[in-house]
Amino acid sequence: MYCRHCGKELNENADYCTSCGVATTKGNAYCAKCGSEVDKEAEVCPSCGSSLKKGAGAKKSKLVAGLLGIFLGCFGIHRFYLGYTTIGLVQLLVSVVLGIFTCGISTALVSLWGFIEGVLVLCGTVITTDGDGNELE
Ligand SMILES: [Zn+2]
Ligand SMILES: [Zn+2]
Repeated sequence: MYCRHCGKELNENADYCTSCGVATTKGNAYCAKCGSEVDKEAEVCPSCGSSLKKGAGAKKSKLVAGLLGIFLGCFGIHRFYLGYTTIGLVQLLVSVVLGIFTCGISTALVSLWGFIEGVLVLCGTVITTDGDGNELE
């Protein structure tokens, strides 16, 4: 890992740069993965292709997302957790609003949808990244 502020090579588990003292989650001048200089507005490193977005590295839990999908899938909670807010909203609306008009049929369908997604997340297939493209752990 490299300091995103000054580009110095750091220990993988470092919280702060030993050279400039800036937190490893901060800075936007260098790629944390390959250490090459990047534009501060860049979202992806042109050298190695890794995501440069803020919060990259704060990985979301496969287990949490999977369980949320299985138990609260009908509200799209797992989608909100993973940062897929659009799909989460669709699931929530279809489940709650449409559920009122369909006597709960759409709620049941979304529950099944969320349940399957939860299982897929837990298995590490199909859904392997969050809304920002960060791998789940
Ligand atoms: Zn530094
Ligand atoms: Zn890079």
